[in-house]
Amino acid sequence: MSISSSLSKRDLSVLWHPCTQMKDHETLPLISIKRGEGIFLEDFEGNRYLDAISSWWVNLFGHCNPIINAAIKEQLDTLEHVMLGGFTHESAVVLSEKLLEVAPKGLSKCFYSDNGSSAVEIALKMSFQSWRNQGKLKKTKFVSLENSYHGETLGALAVSNVALYKQTFAPLLMDVITVPSPDSYHRELDELSRDYAIRQFQAMDAVLSERADEICAVIIEPLIQCAGNMRMYHPYYLTLLRIACDNYHIHLIADEVAVGFGRTGTLFGCEQANISPDFLCIAKGLTGGYLPLAATLTTDAIYQTFYDDYHKLTGFFHSHSYTGNALACRAGIATLGIFQQQGIIEKNKQLAKIMWAAVAPFKEHPNISDVRQTGMVVAIELVKNKQTREPFAWQERRGLKVYQYALTQGILLRPIGNVVYFIPPYIITEEQIKQLATVAWQGIQIAVTD
Ligand SMILES: *Cc1c(COP(=O)(O)O)cnc(C)c1O
Repeated sequence: MSISSSLSKRDLSVLWHPCTQMKDHETLPLISIKRGEGIFLEDFEGNRYLDAISSWWVNLFGHCNPIINAAIKEQLDTLEHVMLGGFTHESAVVLSEKLLEVAPKGLSKCFYSDNGSSAVEIALKMSFQSWRNQGKLKKTKFVSLENSYHGETLGALAVSNVALYKQTFAPLLMDVITVPSPDSYHRELDELSRDYAIRQFQAMDAVLSERADEICAVIIEPLIQCAGNMRMYHPYYLTLLRIACDNYHIHLIADEVAVGFGRTGTLFGCEQANISPDFLCIAKGLTGGYLPLAATLTTDAIYQTFYDDYHKLTGFFHSHSYTGNALACRAGIATLGIFQQQGIIEKNKQLAKIMWAAVAPFKEHPNISDVRQTGMVVAIELVKNKQTREPFAWQERRGLKVYQYALTQGILLRPIGNVVYFIPPYIITEEQIKQLATVAWQGIQIAVTD
């Protein structure tokens, strides 16, 4: 038996994989990865897979990046971890300083955790407690958008709106106020995205103005609802939302767990609306895709609502064992260093153009209803009927067919439902983008034919 198949067999006898119906693996082989190098993952037979989705949107500068590797190795021989309660270390301090330098203006404190869902939980709890500390006891509700995704833990899931993840657990979840999404996919044919965003904002504004005294915060994914089928919307919605939240005294939580670190074309999505949130949640790309680290950034105004004598019990009594892990922080510092030293955001503008040129012709395909892009993210929506936009039945699992075909061509693509998307590491080359588009096109042809 080959190493791959023996590993896969041992795996299936002891592991339970994320977001997977494990029975699928009776027919769908697990891919055992031996090593990573740059944009490629390599299996035990020497087959290479171009990681077009950055290993679930985390990787920024390739696998086993020499700069990040060296930084982690150096940290490893100095300090691997120390608890952040009562203690500190240089990498946590330096990372915080550097994050606050590049984050939207007004954010001035970093609270660490180790995954995006936790970063969201922390923002929700901080917002709630901040109002409580100010005597606003009626503020207990959160507002989120249709089709949003904010993570899997119960609080984060409650403010999410993707049925596949949420429905089963609905009886366990807190009540949230859900408002229509500005998702441009649903705009009228002759309507501009910006006009649609303004139109959709009316429902948000109505909720905020009517229920301001109950609402702690609005949580939103800036510019792209990633897990919600990579749906995109106009930044002006965020501008309007910031103004309304200020008017009605409601916090704004920007969940940039997925879109942060350059995915939308700017370092943070909020920049495109020229706004600053009260809470900024970041995770995935924060360590370049190396180690689990997340942060919830907030303002001094909010920090001050917690800052008092101990016995008043207004402190934020929330911790995770690995808060501010030194290895992860060091990877984060190295990641920010690469952005700065290599002018990544500027360079990506060119890559984004190449990505668009590669997929724009897909628009003509009879089973593609939409091809969209925001920065370094492109998405292609497959439908049964182009005119009516009737989707393929989810049970047909058309996206899975694209996944399977792409693997045979040495490409890792993992569509969400019927949406094929690219979220590549920023080291991707023009040639690789073209190859990716060719393989995606072929995979789509196979997937849409019965
Ligand atoms: C992935 C994601 C999360 C959850 O992050 P995890 O690290 O997987 O817990 C939260 N919000 C958004 C927008 C995400 O894409």
